[in-house]
Amino acid sequence: MRQIKNYQIHLWGRIYGATMEIQGEEGALFFEKTLQTKYKTSLDKGNASLLFPKFYRAMLSEEIDKKISFWLKKLDLPHPAIGYATMKSRWGSCRPIRGRITLNSDLARYPRGCSEYVLVHELLHFFHLHHNHQFYKLFDLNFPSWPKYKALLRYPRKNTLLDS
Ligand SMILES: [Zn+2]
Repeated sequence: MRQIKNYQIHLWGRIYGATMEIQGEEGALFFEKTLQTKYKTSLDKGNASLLFPKFYRAMLSEEIDKKISFWLKKLDLPHPAIGYATMKSRWGSCRPIRGRITLNSDLARYPRGCSEYVLVHELLHFFHLHHNHQFYKLFDLNFPSWPKYKALLRYPRKNTLLDS
C-alpha cells in the first residue's frame, strides 16, 4: 500500500510543501515535485524521518560550497574539512587543530544569512579559540550584521505533517 504524507517544511526562511511517499520498505521525499532523496530500509524503525536530514544536508552543503571561497579568500584561510550533521544543541563547531568545522544541517531551514553567520563564526575560531573580545572584534569587522542572524536562530522551525 502506498502512503503519501504531506508536509509544510522550512527552507531558507520560507515555507514550502513537500511530499513523502512510502511504499513497503521504500521511501522517497519530493520537494517542489522533484525527487530529492530515497531510502530502502525498515520502516518500523521510523526511518522515514531520515529523509529530511538528508535533504537539508544536501541543501546546506550546496549553499556552503557557493559561499566558502569568498570567505576563505577574505580571511586568508586554507580550505577546512567540512562536516554536516543534525545536532540538537549547537549550530556549528570548530576543531582548529584538525582544520575541521561541522555545521548543523538544519541551518538550511533559516534565511541564507544564518548559515553564512555560522560559517564565519566557525572560521573565526581558526584565529581565536574562545569567544573573547578579539573574536567579536574580528566578527564585527568582517560580518557586522551577525547579531541579526544570531537572533533569527533562536526560534525553532519545525516541519509540520499536514492531514492527508
Ligand atoms: Zn564559537
